[in-house]
Amino acid sequence: MYCRVIVDIAHSQVDKIFEYSCADGVEVGSRVNVPFGGRVVEGFVIGLSATPSFDVSKIKPVAQVYDEQPALVPECFRLMEHISRRYRVPRAVALRLFLPSEMRLGRVNEVYTKYIRIDDPNIILGKAAKKQIAALAELTSGDCEYSQFCQKYGRSAVGALIEKGGAQVYKVRRSRTPLPGEEEDSEPVELSPAQSAALRHIEDSPATVELIHGVTGSGKTEIYLSYIAEVLKRGRTAIFLVPEISLTPQMLRQLRKRFKGSAAIMHSGLSAGERFDEWWRLRSGEAKIAIGARSAIFAPLENIGAIIIDEEHDPSYCSETAPRYSTIDIAKLRAQYNGCKLILGSATPAVEDYLSATQGKYGLVELPDRINKKPLPEMIIADMRREVRRGNNSPFSSALREELASTLAAGNQAIIFLNRRGYAKTVICQDCGYVAKCDNCDVSLVYHSDENCLKCHYCGAKYRMPPACPECGGRHLRYGGTGTQRVVADLKELFPVARILRMDNDTVTGKDGHYKILSAFGNHEADILVGTQMIAKGHDFPAVTLVGILDADMSLHFSDYRSGERTFQLITQVAGRSGRADEKGRVVLQTYSPENYILRYAVNYDYKGFFENEIRVRKATSFPPYALICRVMVTAERDESALEVLKSVYFAIDGLRRSCPDEFIFFNKMHSPIKKLQGRVRYQVLMRLRSDRLLPDIYDIAVSSSTSAALAYVEENPANLS
Ligand code: ADP
Ligand code: ZN
Repeated sequence: MYCRVIVDIAHSQVDKIFEYSCADGVEVGSRVNVPFGGRVVEGFVIGLSATPSFDVSKIKPVAQVYDEQPALVPECFRLMEHISRRYRVPRAVALRLFLPSEMRLGRVNEVYTKYIRIDDPNIILGKAAKKQIAALAELTSGDCEYSQFCQKYGRSAVGALIEKGGAQVYKVRRSRTPLPGEEEDSEPVELSPAQSAALRHIEDSPATVELIHGVTGSGKTEIYLSYIAEVLKRGRTAIFLVPEISLTPQMLRQLRKRFKGSAAIMHSGLSAGERFDEWWRLRSGEAKIAIGARSAIFAPLENIGAIIIDEEHDPSYCSETAPRYSTIDIAKLRAQYNGCKLILGSATPAVEDYLSATQGKYGLVELPDRINKKPLPEMIIADMRREVRRGNNSPFSSALREELASTLAAGNQAIIFLNRRGYAKTVICQDCGYVAKCDNCDVSLVYHSDENCLKCHYCGAKYRMPPACPECGGRHLRYGGTGTQRVVADLKELFPVARILRMDNDTVTGKDGHYKILSAFGNHEADILVGTQMIAKGHDFPAVTLVGILDADMSLHFSDYRSGERTFQLITQVAGRSGRADEKGRVVLQTYSPENYILRYAVNYDYKGFFENEIRVRKATSFPPYALICRVMVTAERDESALEVLKSVYFAIDGLRRSCPDEFIFFNKMHSPIKKLQGRVRYQVLMRLRSDRLLPDIYDIAVSSSTSAALAYVEENPANLS
């Protein structure tokens, strides 16, 4: 046999298909080792044939075959072609998306449990060999775990028994199953009329993509789970994506309870071994539901019956490293290939997706009410300008203080949200205006009180807190802006007996960091949870009746066309954590611009009003989805290398512009807003295009302009223009 192989080398020059001879046992999708340019490299078999396509004497044999079952599912070759063509990456790089990284380069191995079983029950044993006789007798009633068996009868007796042919040892692949011990049964709830109607609509509608727009607490999760159960009943599999899986332990528990071993969890918080085993459980067909963040869209499942993307508006669904794919686009392709539905769900859909739904390109399900018609929490706007005028310089408005006091007095819980970790945003010298900045990145450093140090939130570098200003020697260093640490410190002063938990990138360390904090709060081991956007995700804490949003308008002032949308989404999501059970919830929204229209829509839970206004503005100003924002980033260690590549990218695209002037709404080259990141300088060619017609050419330009010293890459509608 002969096989066509893609070698696992991320370089465009070897992005070709190579041919090798192979024995039986090699299948399409197998991982193999092959001789390549004087060494042995890993590769993937993408095709087999009985005859060679060129001179047999030049064809070398495959050196080694991994795994009993081919690791890659057939569907992935089609996706590989698409991804490598669409995003201009070598095919090997596209294929890597389909495998757990620890599988490549053999960094993790299977673990086995050894068992012992009877081989020949009739062997002759001497009367004195009492232990061996007893051991053989026990094996007649069934196989035993080997190490326990040895402990019971002694290693030498068991060894002798095996030696004489009475018993033999065998091994079974064992799964390192994550989050064990939470598998009590769950009663399936009775669906509400709205939930049943939603499911019927999804079953009956001809669209491939369905958008569920349901307010927070409208019972979307239950719709997903019921749909997955249906799909499994029909013998098919499912992919269920959530924005950040480690932030949703409750969701995991629900899924585990409902689907037991059929659910496999793919997330970065697992150990390498666990990830590897969960992946194989899916590949072997033992598990049928892949649950995970963005990368789980590449789960090795066949015969997929449903793909669900919860919180579909979340920016984490766009990859920020090459290939910069859109998860929803990949999901659409997989849904088409498998002939199944793609279900997008959100309380605040991305405006482009809601537009597609209103245009009939997607099916649309609206769930305007919470389960059991529970009211959405009442929102109170606190005007922070007035607070400052009254002399209140604390991070809390008087309204929030009063609400906190009454919530705590009633024995309920509160969540305080602000989007900044650390103690203070910046350290400023009041004498000369010096601001502490990172050496590797062009950003200001954040003061962390618990470690008394300055940290860069972009590269993680830590700096000693200077006793005086390094510029002028002045001793008046002021902390500007409030972070989570400072909020906790201030809360402790205001409410000395309240138990407070903090959740942000600094407190959630280790494998179960998120889980520990969230379950402690869920068990009411604390009264107040302070955190960054980590706490905004779909948590369901019944005792939370108050949510405080400290800086509701912070994201409004980003120079990004989506900042209004992001602000609306964030406020709605965070507010949705309040009043989910019996008691009515409240939200205090602190802002310096209370008249802002985005806040007005958010306070009234008026998604449609927000959407109509937003889409009108986007159309009038030619912004996505009515245009495409495209950025070619150029980064390098040295300024000259970057500028040289920037120039060639700019001139090449300018050539395109001269031949198609109507396609360009905006076109310029400049420093990126963050001029330096992790030691690399950053420049960009920024453009706004009427369509994606020229995108393939722009990708070509970026690929062909990159040099060994400077990297150029394309971003489409980037979530973050920093
Ligand atoms: P969403 O995902 O839309 O924010 P959830 O699925 O978390 O909403 O549901 C909100 C709450 O309602 C949860 O506590 C959930 O257990 C409960 N719930 C959902 N469906 C039902 C139902 N059919 N009957 C009773 N309670 C339900
Ligand atoms: Zn840095």
